[in-house]
Amino acid sequence: MSYDENNIFAKILRGEIPCNKIYEDDFVLSFHDINPQKKIHVLVIPKGSYTDVDDFSKRASKDEISSLMQAVAEVCKINKLSLSEGGNGFRLIANTGPDGSQEVPHFHYHVMGGEPMGLRGLRKV
Ligand code: AMP
Repeated sequence: MSYDENNIFAKILRGEIPCNKIYEDDFVLSFHDINPQKKIHVLVIPKGSYTDVDDFSKRASKDEISSLMQAVAEVCKINKLSLSEGGNGFRLIANTGPDGSQEVPHFHYHVMGGEPMGLRGLRKV
């Protein structure tokens, strides 16, 4: 899949539309999901043009990859979700492609927490 420069997260990264920012560094932006599914629902995205987690894993630099994971940890700390900071945990999701119900074709992690998740949407194996 080629990268669509007009996807909504690309527009946020270019500053063409606003976001409710939580965290930013050279490689990563994090902001609140506009349609939260849980009490805390945050998105963490790389600034580079990657369509999905698979694309990111293959093409991103080590700095981009480590920054993204550090940003996830930072966002969880800011939102008091981290187990290591006394929080109650969270769910980290990367919807990928049509079967993963990915709507926005710019790689993003969802961080959800603040209440129990349950198993809805997860297939039991
Ligand atoms: P996904 O189905 O994994 O692609 O999820 C895309 C997410 O982006 C959804 O949870 C949307 O609510 C969220 N979203 C879409 N537009 C915006 C926006 N302008 N600001 C923040 N979140 C958005």
